[in-house]
Amino acid sequence: MADIYDSIIIGAGPAGMAAALYNARDRFKTLVLEKFFPGGQIISTDRIENYPGFENISGPDLVEKFKKQAENFGAEIKTEEVKKIIKLPDDNIEVNCGKKTFTGKSVIIACGSDYRKLGVPGEAEFRNAGAGVSYCGTCDAPFFKGKNVVAIGGGNTAVEEALHVAKFAAKLTLVHRRQEFRATPVLVEELMQKVNSPGGNIKLQLDSVITTIEGDKKVEKVKVKNVKTNAEEYIACDGVFIFVGTIPNTGFLKDFVDLTDEGFIKCDQGNLRTKVPGVFVAGDCRVGAAMQLATAVGDGVNAAIVMKQYFRDPNWWNQT
Ligand code: NAP
Repeated sequence: MADIYDSIIIGAGPAGMAAALYNARDRFKTLVLEKFFPGGQIISTDRIENYPGFENISGPDLVEKFKKQAENFGAEIKTEEVKKIIKLPDDNIEVNCGKKTFTGKSVIIACGSDYRKLGVPGEAEFRNAGAGVSYCGTCDAPFFKGKNVVAIGGGNTAVEEALHVAKFAAKLTLVHRRQEFRATPVLVEELMQKVNSPGGNIKLQLDSVITTIEGDKKVEKVKVKNVKTNAEEYIACDGVFIFVGTIPNTGFLKDFVDLTDEGFIKCDQGNLRTKVPGVFVAGDCRVGAAMQLATAVGDGVNAAIVMKQYFRDPNWWNQT
């Protein structure tokens, strides 16, 4: 009979690797399953300056440290794409990867999310803050100090992040495809105050979309189209911040745990429990995640800690 793991972690991003470190260091037999290679979103981040303890580190270097540290304590990492998860009658959990199946006493789902892309020419080519396209203002705003930038989106993330990036940039143009913002009124009020303040550095370009991002090695300009008049113009800029939402990688889970309409995994936010006993969730794929590297790591640690409580007393699951 195949080995039964104490913990199977789905996804080797920061949340999954942090959970693996804690699980393995607690002497639990720990398996991490990753579709491609460890790292999640940070594997394609060239500079990280907001992870405590590291003034400046590349995403791949930090991932290597996460991986080594978890493996040093005995965590196994395998490249497998999870297709399906099943709760077995004996309370164990079967993780099906097509040709291979793994069984665990507990599972931490840490499969992350992807930034929604605009899908315009130049977006992929300049996709890192060094070249000019970023999906995270909190991460990359300081790289655009004194520069002209364009931001796209009208949701909470777009407005919050635009306000943050504008503290660094010389000028920020927020491009949104409608007149109305999806963001909460309090954020929109704050935005409008900045837009209307004399000498302010935020400008709005409404009813508009970006159609190309152009430059030679780095971003130099974007083409903007007014969706009502079809008029097009260029805006010169050094950076493009794309804040048009995120898409969680949870398609394979829809018959197993509860998902929001957007695909985020529902859980109790204190203990990270899904609706299935023994199955926890951590990081950007869960509802209410702060979508930051450090908070994903915190989630992974939290899930590993509450898992111990579940092992001590399975009835705890339904009690608190
Ligand atoms: P979101 O609410 O889905 O907003 C995405 C924005 O991008 C919308 O304004 C949308 O325009 C626009 N958009 C989508 N696709 C586009 C495209 N192809 N081209 C141009 N624009 C496009 O995403 P989010 O702002 O990342 O927020 C995600 C969730 O986290 C939300 O529930 C949000 O409330 C929450 N959140 C909360 C806070 C907070 O409470 N402080 C902060 C951040 C996020 P339309 O409006 O026209 O559809």
